[in-house]
Amino acid sequence: MIRSAEFLARQWGPSASEWEGVPVTDGTRHLILVAGAGPAGMAVANMLTKAGHEVIILNRDIKFGGLVEYGIFPSKLKLRGGLKKTYWELLGNSHVHYFGNVSVGRNKDVTLDELRSLGLSAIVFATGAQGTKTIGVEGEAAKGVYHAKDVVFHFNRLPGYGEKPFDMGKRVAVIGVGDVMVDIAHWLTRYKRVEQVTAIARRGLAERKYNPKEIRAICANIDQADLAKEIERIGPRLEAVGQNPAELQKEMAEEFSKCEPKTSHTKVGFRFLSSPKRVLTDADNRVRALELEETKLELKGQDTAAVGLKQYEEFPCDSVVFAVGDKADDAVGLPYKNGTFVTNPTPSGNDPDDALFQAYDEASGKVLDGVFLTGWARKASEGLVGIAKRDGDWCAEVVQRYLRSKPVPDRAQIQRSVERLRAMFRERGVTTVSAIELRALESGEQEHGPSPECIGEFKFLTNQDMLSLIDEKRAASGSLPRR
Ligand SMILES: Cc1cc2nc3c(=O)[nH]c(=O)nc-3n(C[C@H](O)[C@H](O)[C@H](O)COP(=O)(O)OP(=O)(O)OC[C@H]3O[C@@H](n4cnc5c(N)ncnc54)[C@H](O)[C@@H]3O)c2cc1C
Repeated sequence: MIRSAEFLARQWGPSASEWEGVPVTDGTRHLILVAGAGPAGMAVANMLTKAGHEVIILNRDIKFGGLVEYGIFPSKLKLRGGLKKTYWELLGNSHVHYFGNVSVGRNKDVTLDELRSLGLSAIVFATGAQGTKTIGVEGEAAKGVYHAKDVVFHFNRLPGYGEKPFDMGKRVAVIGVGDVMVDIAHWLTRYKRVEQVTAIARRGLAERKYNPKEIRAICANIDQADLAKEIERIGPRLEAVGQNPAELQKEMAEEFSKCEPKTSHTKVGFRFLSSPKRVLTDADNRVRALELEETKLELKGQDTAAVGLKQYEEFPCDSVVFAVGDKADDAVGLPYKNGTFVTNPTPSGNDPDDALFQAYDEASGKVLDGVFLTGWARKASEGLVGIAKRDGDWCAEVVQRYLRSKPVPDRAQIQRSVERLRAMFRERGVTTVSAIELRALESGEQEHGPSPECIGEFKFLTNQDMLSLIDEKRAASGSLPRR
């Protein structure tokens, strides 16, 4: 029995008796748990249910989507809406059991060892890259220093971040020249309307990382005269490694030919060949400037590296945002090294690439049997949604190959495992949120309509607000299932 998307789309979902202990149905072969409901986790769950398996999804956030909900710029409604539609279709499948508001990890709602004791056929970690990367400069803990992901979570209203104040001041230095820098500059330009945003790069124009389409959101605010001066300033250092400043400038100018209309007087600029050395603070430990070291480029094969010139300068600013990538969160409890979860270094399994997805314990020199990684949990900050989805698809294939040699559990065993998990959450007082409850939440948010404090669609700010809304819907309809 496949529940249709239309079935879930009904505002209140099925009655409590229909929902309680959704039965494990014909066609089931294995029970797989996926931790994380971002693009990678949803892709794994989708492929495995299509193959006839039963899938449990545990997700830290109440809502599914991961960075689709809380990372991608909130005004990209078409992109977000299209992705969310496919995720709703997945949750409409009766072989999928969604538990939102559940974190896996040490001192969290459930640990890896507890999950492994449930008799699942496989566990896939698609928990993204929740750790914060720093570049380790003095002053990083000063007031006014932020990490890009936290800022992005703030303007996307992720509970825990949406309600925190992010005082940016008038002049903001953003470290990095990738798409995340562009999103931060977009928010600062259009919504915060600060005076000045400067993207700071250790290398030059040729090494800029943003997508030319993304820069359209802010290019009307780029101060062309300042950019020309900056290119002139660093020109000799670019020529020293065979780069042509005029050509690079022309390339950049072409990227700026389809800018979105200007909505503020914010000036956006670039500072190239400059490496942040220290955050300088005032007596109140608040950012007053960045100390930058001038760099030059050195060729490293096909690539370039920045080399410090020991010439330092104070760059005045009121806040600093580090947009230098993310790392995995070691509290998840998987073997962890240098910011990433460890995967099997030795080709193994039916396909040599299977090892890339297998969690691996270096201490014992063994793979964690039946534990897999995908998406940004496997490779932090690697690519756009399409790449994460493809990674999830590949991971599902690896899991399928693994399952071939495993005994197929019977339906009663699967039902017991799902019920044990539910009981565990009940006993611990973990307030889980089901797909049906999410539908009620979504309809409540839509009813609310647009709001000046939200970019894009309205979102409740805290988990408590979301849970209260779900409770209100339940009380009003009498048909939403109890948790
Ligand atoms: C600022 C920013 C803007 C972006 N903009 C775009 C864009 O415009 N277009 C585009 O295509 N791509 C964009 N991307 C990239 C895209 O968001 C990622 O490629 C993709 O979301 C990665 O998917 P994932 O499933 O691996 O991780 P995530 O999307 O991070 O999902 C991880 C999921 O795991 C859950 N989770 C975390 N920890 C736990 C835990 N301990 N237990 C249980 N669950 C947990 C989270 O709640 C989340 O649902 C952007 C990324 C960023 C950072």
